[in-house]
Amino acid sequence: MDITNAATWLEIKRAAITNNIQRLRQITATQIMAVVKGNAYGHGLVEVSRTAVAAGAEWLALARLEEAQLLRENGITAPILVMTYTHPSRAPEAARQGITLTAYNPQQAQQLSDVMRGSQQPLMVHAKINTGMNRLGVLPEEGPDFLHLLKTLPALQVTGMFTHFACADELKHPTTARQLSRFQTLVQAVEKAGLRPPLIHASSSAAMLYENEARFDIVRAGIAMYGLQPSSETPLPQGFEPALSWKARLVAINHLPPGEGVGYNHRYFTTKNERIGVFSAGYGDGVRRRPGNMILLGGKRLKVIGICMDQCLINLDEVPAAQVGDEVVLIGRQGEASITPEDIAAAWQTTNYEVVTGLAARVPRLDRKSTRLNSSHTDIS
Ligand SMILES: *Cc1c(COP(=O)(O)O)cnc(C)c1O
Repeated sequence: MDITNAATWLEIKRAAITNNIQRLRQITATQIMAVVKGNAYGHGLVEVSRTAVAAGAEWLALARLEEAQLLRENGITAPILVMTYTHPSRAPEAARQGITLTAYNPQQAQQLSDVMRGSQQPLMVHAKINTGMNRLGVLPEEGPDFLHLLKTLPALQVTGMFTHFACADELKHPTTARQLSRFQTLVQAVEKAGLRPPLIHASSSAAMLYENEARFDIVRAGIAMYGLQPSSETPLPQGFEPALSWKARLVAINHLPPGEGVGYNHRYFTTKNERIGVFSAGYGDGVRRRPGNMILLGGKRLKVIGICMDQCLINLDEVPAAQVGDEVVLIGRQGEASITPEDIAAAWQTTNYEVVTGLAARVPRLDRKSTRLNSSHTDIS
């Protein structure tokens, strides 16, 4: 399959991901942990991970052991951190595959150690510190004791310590300064106690761009690596590029008289002679059944008037030249027009993170460079 014959597809520009990682490296001057959870924010786990490692990312981070294992099955040997919960019974598999887990409280750490007893390789863990997110982790004041416990528990090896900011995408939010200060105090304490793990980290995209003091040994780059901004308050600096476009095709045109209902429950009625187009992407692909959806066709922004699982409906009045087979853009550019994940997020009242992560696994992710194009409306060469 290539983009000449898919019904709907994502074009992923690997060069953009490479470029964005290099920009982050220039800006932060630290090691980079490429965050590829959620199917690499919908961009495609394996290909993005390969690209990130080839671009120099020292680590990969994600949320599910299954994702980490898929990377190992695909021959990716870079260090991988699973940042969230993993069932303790799976610790030995993780250890065998060289996958680092997160230890986030004494009981859970003890369980990991119990399961690992008698295993050949130790399980590598990063210790999670709760400086204010109030999700996972021990309080900073408990950090030294926790690190000491991890050090003494059999079959565990502590290779890192990290925290996560709750409000970093709200510029100069006082919570970020408070969290950072608590973490810095802890880092000093564990250094003094001779318990400092090799890798200390705290920053996701917004923090690494806007909180210079929070970079420590490595930064966890998610949304910025994909060329998307953490929030409107924390935009990306110059030189980043979005990696993802989402496309489909116009697959049918219906010429309808006035007064015809269109689509499920006839939510739309023609008011005159109208040309109603069908394009080949729906909520099974990541469109949501909500008002405000737009697409690009013939270089124009058109309102979606009907949403089904595998296809959607549009009125073609503004694009008289539209023909079956034409390319429809759901995210990306077409001529002068564009639709960004931020535009869609505004319509859906969510964030760009959720828009791209919601792109269904069934949609083929195609490398933009190796694809051949068959539409006159596209700006890619
Ligand atoms: C998702 C996540 C990140 C990456 O966040 P971005 O804002 O996408 O850069 C970093 N750290 C943790 C713990 C996360 O859950």
